[in-house]
Amino acid sequence: MNKKLIYADHAATTPLMPEALEAMLPFMKGDFGNPSSIHSWARKPREAVREARAAIAMCINAEPEEIFFTSGGTEADNWVVKGSEGGMLVSSYEHHAVLNAVASEARRGRDVVYVRPKVGNGGGYIMPERLSKVWEEGIGLVSVMTANNEIGTINPIHLLSDFAHKHGALFHTDAVQAVGHIPIDVREMGVDFLSASAHKFNGPKGIGFLFMRKGVKLEPLLNGGQQENGFRAGTENVASIVGMATALKVNCERMNKTAGYLDDLTSRLRDGIDRIFPGAIYLGDGVAGQLPGFTSVSFPGHPAEGLMHMLDLKGIAVSTGAACDSKNTRISHVLKAVNATNEIARSTIRITLGSENTVADVDIILAALKRILREAGNDIT
Ligand code: PLP
Repeated sequence: MNKKLIYADHAATTPLMPEALEAMLPFMKGDFGNPSSIHSWARKPREAVREARAAIAMCINAEPEEIFFTSGGTEADNWVVKGSEGGMLVSSYEHHAVLNAVASEARRGRDVVYVRPKVGNGGGYIMPERLSKVWEEGIGLVSVMTANNEIGTINPIHLLSDFAHKHGALFHTDAVQAVGHIPIDVREMGVDFLSASAHKFNGPKGIGFLFMRKGVKLEPLLNGGQQENGFRAGTENVASIVGMATALKVNCERMNKTAGYLDDLTSRLRDGIDRIFPGAIYLGDGVAGQLPGFTSVSFPGHPAEGLMHMLDLKGIAVSTGAACDSKNTRISHVLKAVNATNEIARSTIRITLGSENTVADVDIILAALKRILREAGNDIT
């Protein structure tokens, strides 16, 4: 009997949306011209890149000239960190794309100050009061993620950017987990820079963008040709740019409906977990304060790696902490930052549902968890 495979690791990556694939195909076939060429083969690709930039800008309330295509979230984050000036204030639970870029800059002599998220019940957020506690003269860049990739909490970005601006610093947000899932309005958020990655919102891998507000500038990370207005060299990845714009547009149109659907699925999942394992501990701050579909949950006494592998054997994909940390048995820096004990951190799995998941999928996940926990000899109901 074929078992149904269930993918519940959407924070790691998402399946490519059929509409995006369709939109990409012509540029991987006949319309392969280089958008920078002078001859007529450039016309369609150039027009497609222009339209994609406009569509993306519209989804986040930016101007098209404020969108710069990159190879993904990692490049966008690195660009902001390495292309900016002055000291940096960053949250201690950023993705490694920010943290390791910041560490590299620190080795070259830039000052760095870290801010920890609020801990305890209702924790997992960075609040402006916390920024003011660690503020130091000379900070030129503040970077706090829109939503955390391990616990799913959503930060009050407009308050944080306001604080940074009042103190004369620029503000960057890594919105890789948020774009395409919750409303993003760069004007309301008041950000100078925002990073995004297509594969997190049903677009292709290896493509993303940086929003850079008109009037602010970064040193280019990649030097070469004059693409992206001279700010990011390299022949455009036309097919992927088109796929990304299509995926974002479709996701933005469906956003409210999808979020409501995922909240319902998540509540069903958590109710079920509470029934089979009343001692389960959730990280983050409840369904309302987290990304749609996001559950980070600890089963004390049950190592996360074992749970993940047992679920995998049953055809269910979840993760322990961040996907990029899957080969790393150290305790996640995010869980440390929110003060999770070693015991909780070691037994935390991340279940992130997506729009293609169904009620039946949730019930299969719950049945599998129940069996695995029972086989492990736990007193479950
Ligand atoms: N930032 C966050 C919050 C992420 O979750 C990820 C991917 O896991 C990245 C950055 C890196 O993005 P990419 O995979 O496009 O390089």
